[in-house]
Amino acid sequence: MPQPATPPPPSDAAVPAAGVAAAAAAAAPTERFAARTAGMTASEIRALFAVASRPEVVSLAGGMPNLAALPLESLAAEVGNLVARDGQVALQYGSAQGVPALREQICEVMALEGIRADPDDVVVTVGSQMALDLVTRIYCDPGDVVLAEGPSYVGALGSFAAYQARVVHVAMDEHGLVPELLRDALRSLAAQGITPKLLYTIPNFHNPAGVTLAVERRAEVLEICASYGVAVVEDNPYGLLGFSGRTYPALRSLDRDVVYLGSFSKTFASGLRVGWALVPPAVRDRLVLAAESATLCPPSFTQMLVSRYLAGHDWRSQIKTFTEAYRERRDALLDALETHLPDGCTWNVPDGGFYVWLTVPEGVDTKAMLPRAVTARVAYASGTGFYADGFGTRQLRLSYCYPTPERITEGVRRLAGVLEAELDV
Ligand code: PMP
Repeated sequence: MPQPATPPPPSDAAVPAAGVAAAAAAAAPTERFAARTAGMTASEIRALFAVASRPEVVSLAGGMPNLAALPLESLAAEVGNLVARDGQVALQYGSAQGVPALREQICEVMALEGIRADPDDVVVTVGSQMALDLVTRIYCDPGDVVLAEGPSYVGALGSFAAYQARVVHVAMDEHGLVPELLRDALRSLAAQGITPKLLYTIPNFHNPAGVTLAVERRAEVLEICASYGVAVVEDNPYGLLGFSGRTYPALRSLDRDVVYLGSFSKTFASGLRVGWALVPPAVRDRLVLAAESATLCPPSFTQMLVSRYLAGHDWRSQIKTFTEAYRERRDALLDALETHLPDGCTWNVPDGGFYVWLTVPEGVDTKAMLPRAVTARVAYASGTGFYADGFGTRQLRLSYCYPTPERITEGVRRLAGVLEAELDV
């Protein structure tokens, strides 16, 4: 007998299948993320950005360069010319390694710090942050150890975390990384059978510590790393921003195996996002492949604009103008700290760059204090963000690059009030 054409009752199998589908649909998309994304946490500094950029808040938090002194009108003319005369190239894809003329000019910039380089070994990147990401990508497997100064640049710590590398900090003193402590760290890791992949170091006008690696220590740091088979990554965005006009010999000028990272963010314009890596030829090809898979090529337009700026403007005197403004702001900050801060605070005197690193009296937790500081209309970057291991609760970073000297003084006055209230509790 033919069966009536009624739909079959749901089978036992169909019920859980629908349930599984519903459960999968209900699962948060984040549950499908790769394990390595767990290390990608919002930097405290980025989280602060929205609050700190409210006009009533004096932000001593971010490291935004001060672009007020840039010759905007002549740059506007340069942009117009670039489009009108070379638009077909500037608006087109380009080489993954970067515009050849710019790579040659980058070698001239690096020569100011004693580096003799071949443009073929330069890879242009979207800011030196991208170079940091790519270098970590090609060197680090999950669990690999990277040595870094303690404290260290928050963006680098972010890249290391994203590739699941483990950071071991090496302490600094007022002359930068301490060779003896570097040796101790390597010895103790070797005793555990661990060879770090990299030493990541910011030798000049350190972010966030403000210190500079003493010239006498430079060769020693390189020798120690070479003897343990550790590659050195030298991150140098601030090297030309010394207040005395003095430059220091780059680590790369002493050792051609150093992976060197540079940037136009602090010496020209951070929004153009043009940085670079100078690497040994054996590393270059892998780096270019990694760059290609990330972005195909860096933007032709911004590279060509930087190239025209370097060729047609007095960029050396522009850097001098920038550093004069930064020195004035540093002085305003140091004066205000001296005048207003309660006893028991200590800080360094930077000779260039953007940052002062402040240690507050025992009992004050700079991360916990931050919301109260923001209520008092001053922002800073608390110390813990610059360590991978939770250290830095008594430290904070003050950036003097962006606010005017008057605002800096007012910001420190507010900060002093917050600190005094904390110490009374
Ligand atoms: N390294 C250090 C030490 C920095 O301070 C910065 C920016 N604050 C960068 C790298 C990244 O710079 P950019 O990507 O703008 O070149």
